Amino acid sequence: MKIICIGRNYAQHAAELNNPIPKEPVVFIKPDSAVLVGNSPFFIPDFSSNVQYELEITVKINRLGKHIEERFAHKYYDQIGLGLDFTARDLQEDLKSKGLPWEKAKAFDGSAVIGEFIPKSELVNDSNWDFYLLQNQKKVQEGNRSQMLFSIDRIISEVSKYFTLKIGDVIFTGTPHGVGSIAKEDILEGFLNGQRLLSTRVK
Ligand code: ZN
Repeated sequence: MKIICIGRNYAQHAAELNNPIPKEPVVFIKPDSAVLVGNSPFFIPDFSSNVQYELEITVKINRLGKHIEERFAHKYYDQIGLGLDFTARDLQEDLKSKGLPWEKAKAFDGSAVIGEFIPKSELVNDSNWDFYLLQNQKKVQEGNRSQMLFSIDRIISEVSKYFTLKIGDVIFTGTPHGVGSIAKEDILEGFLNGQRLLSTRVK
């Protein structure tokens, strides 16, 4: 499986990192070795002194597809969850300034925490899918899908122009503002519509 991530999908987050509002989705990929399984702890890698959390709504692909039209995109996923896109921000800033790819900063082992998924049908249609992140019980990020610059269906349509989507692939749909650093012994918990779907301890 692969993980497809969207960057700068929330205007306030793009602004907090001094990035322009994109005209089309910013896309990068994490390999399956980036997945942090089960409730394993996350170990801060020694190549970064500023790993940051990014809580994101995730979508699990349930059909093989390429060149998916936006109006049919909803047929390609029926499970929604939360994920943490851990980012070595110091490394990313350095790579960005040199115009180099972000992989070392974004796709390292353990950088993709994938929480539980719930059926899309359990999320009320008119709900905004409010989600938030607690860092040691303190709310540090919150957002909802109405703030997304590109909707999930649009994202699926765009990325499937370039990458065949396979069953089990996971899309990270971007983070709202409020990203920040993590420290050893932090406990990070993600909630979607009031339900805790993710919990990670930092080591
Ligand atoms: Zn992200």
